[in-house]
Amino acid sequence: MSEEKSLNFIEEIIENDLNSGKYQSIVTRFPPEPNGYLHIGHASSICLNFGLTKKYPGYTNLRFDDTNPTTEETEYVESIKEDIRWMGFEWKNELYASDYFQQLYDFAVVLIKKGLAYVDDSTSEAIASMKGTPTEPGKDSPFRNRSVEENLDLFQRMKNGEFPDGSRTLRAKIDMAHINMLMRDPILYRIKHAHHHRTGDAWCIYPMYDFAHGQSDSIENITHSICTLEFVPHRELYDWLITQLAIYPSHQYEFARRNINYTVTSKRKLLQLVNEGHVSGWDDPRMPTISGLRRRGFTPESIRDFCDRIGVAKRENMVDVGLLEFCVREHLNKVAQRRMVVTNPIKLVITNYDKGEEILHSENNPEDPNGGTREVPFSNELWIDREDFMEEPTKKYFRLGPGLSVRLKSAYIITCESFEKDASGNITTVFSTYHPDSKSGSDTSGMHVKGTLHWVSAKHAVPVVLNEYDRLFNVEDVASAEGDFKDYINPNSLQSVNAYAEPALVNDEKEARFQFLRKGYFYQDTTSTKDKLVFNRTVTLKDAWAKEQKK
Ligand code: ATP
Ligand code: MG
Repeated sequence: MSEEKSLNFIEEIIENDLNSGKYQSIVTRFPPEPNGYLHIGHASSICLNFGLTKKYPGYTNLRFDDTNPTTEETEYVESIKEDIRWMGFEWKNELYASDYFQQLYDFAVVLIKKGLAYVDDSTSEAIASMKGTPTEPGKDSPFRNRSVEENLDLFQRMKNGEFPDGSRTLRAKIDMAHINMLMRDPILYRIKHAHHHRTGDAWCIYPMYDFAHGQSDSIENITHSICTLEFVPHRELYDWLITQLAIYPSHQYEFARRNINYTVTSKRKLLQLVNEGHVSGWDDPRMPTISGLRRRGFTPESIRDFCDRIGVAKRENMVDVGLLEFCVREHLNKVAQRRMVVTNPIKLVITNYDKGEEILHSENNPEDPNGGTREVPFSNELWIDREDFMEEPTKKYFRLGPGLSVRLKSAYIITCESFEKDASGNITTVFSTYHPDSKSGSDTSGMHVKGTLHWVSAKHAVPVVLNEYDRLFNVEDVASAEGDFKDYINPNSLQSVNAYAEPALVNDEKEARFQFLRKGYFYQDTTSTKDKLVFNRTVTLKDAWAKEQKK
């Protein structure tokens, strides 16, 4: 990407703030709720928040927004940290909103003392029924005018565990006729006798998002608190609380949530896929989670490039998953080692090859001058792909058929002489002759052939399993599709195929990225062992997106 790229609207705000001297440096935070694994939407937020403090002076905190005890788990905390580091970012401080529970409680007491918060005994149904509508004002709760003393006493007793779940709340006292419904005495605290993953049973009252988030930003002196657009109406309350408490003035800015087609990016829905066994886990290679993408073979570079290209927007729109695939192809093309793998094999016998076998050399990556070569054993019995042979070749068929010649990649030119079929008419063996003077790199044959085939020496071949993935859903806009989103799961999203591979793969590093010639980019699955090699297809070679761009 060019250095001259124009600023996004958040960078513009920050440059103004730095140029005007409002701030010398900035502080951002990435605030996940540890109730699931991070997905590709979160990747945008990570690249934005951490990217800003790479570009400008300042730092980024990782803050776990763990104020809801019932959905949060330590497993999620660990996965989130692993994913952010894998993406290539490091936080300054690892923080937990739950560490602020006492401070938040004290803030609530300040509000009560100022006459700006009260304990409400109304049920949640009653509170909802008094809320009004966008065009009609709400009604005051009968508990709204309790004295400060009574509120302080009741709030403390809420904290002490004297009341059951749902029996009371603490509400801000703002304006039940406010044009912004969120300002109509929002709930600040609710009672929940639940075990918290960090604070255990120390608390039985928990702050609501609106009372925890802005205050946590303020405690950490966050200068630019960036969230997604659905929080625009919350900004007024965010500012009101900071003003009333007279604490550090953090500011909230909103950008558009990033959604990708043919998948879901909601932790709640992803959790359902996991719990109901539609996928093998959060890191199933079909999942849009960062851990799923990693297991599938996506690189951090490609995900950062994707986030960079979609940029920061003020309006929601659906991003084509083809762009993500384009980004990973771009990167893998540069770094992937080329290897030969044959699926759906037929035997190719070279009748005039009497050397037994020899070691040939094939370049690892034509895009990389320093990529070197690998040894590929060649012999008189090879496997080739069934689709590379045609019994009665059509006019423009440049692969193998009776009388046709092709080059075997990094080896020789061969000419097909005859073939054999089994009882059901399937081709089993193709017989050919080779041209000894046509060896790649020292070809003096003067022959010109159009097709190049990949192949594997039969006696050296290593059996491998290829997991070929397709989209997890078969509709583009899963979130808006009618009915249950799980009705749209693509039943053919995974096909496991047995294949023969060249032997180099056995000794290749587990983390190596591969292009299997003419098949796509592949990466070893977490379940793969030297005895049973399993590869995930990261992406096919076909680049529909780039073609689309050229139209
Ligand atoms: P989900 O609906 O998947 O649970 P969330 O917004 O509740 O998403 P959080 O853990 O609260 O998930 O999100 C952490 C940060 O990531 C927030 O700042 C949130 O705005 C941002 N984020 C979450 N999803 C997206 C998305 N699709 N695009 C951009 N940013 C996102
Ligand atoms: Mg959330």
